[in-house]
Amino acid sequence: MHIGVLALQGDFIEHQHILERLGVQTRQVRLPAHLEGLDGLIIPGGESTTIGKLATDFGLMEPLRAFARSHAVWGTCAGAIFLSKDARRPQPLLGLMDIEVQRNAFGRQVESFEIDLDVPALRQVEETARPFHAVFIRAPIIERVGAEVEILATLSDGRIVAARQGHWLATSFHPELTDDTRFHRFFLKMVQEVTPLHQDAAVSR
Ligand code: GLN
Repeated sequence: MHIGVLALQGDFIEHQHILERLGVQTRQVRLPAHLEGLDGLIIPGGESTTIGKLATDFGLMEPLRAFARSHAVWGTCAGAIFLSKDARRPQPLLGLMDIEVQRNAFGRQVESFEIDLDVPALRQVEETARPFHAVFIRAPIIERVGAEVEILATLSDGRIVAARQGHWLATSFHPELTDDTRFHRFFLKMVQEVTPLHQDAAVSR
């Protein structure tokens, strides 16, 4: 398995380290050609406006959309914003996931915090009741999800912080900044699930 990490800006190295710990080959993606042959892609946290501007400048917007149609893609924090259809302000977005996000949703006082989340879907990769320790850094909230979107985690007040739509995954927080590899393993499982779909698409083209 070969997973790309969009490496325009943000904490792409941390994602690579976790993937490599899991025995997965990784590649930094900066140009459209770097997507070739990858099985999935992670868009890291950072600053979503900067990531969008750089992706536009490097001619990556359409190649990323085309890749995402047939491959699993996961956005963490800024990456989740970049994957969304609506960030409530003008900025380049891939516009793929049917979610509306509110950037920097936690205000000044609690720009960064850590909290234990219950994420039932992670039991698909490990049978444990252990909560997921989630790191939020100037994080967005997922304000609205479309009918095809599955909510994977909420805060205790009900605000959505992780969601999945088919082979696309969005988390408001940063699993790459913890030692817990469950979210990465969950994503790798999604990558494996989408592979037959990918082959079908190639066959019917
Ligand atoms: N605040 C950033 C944004 O709106 C996201 C922060 C992050 O990725 N940790 O793009």
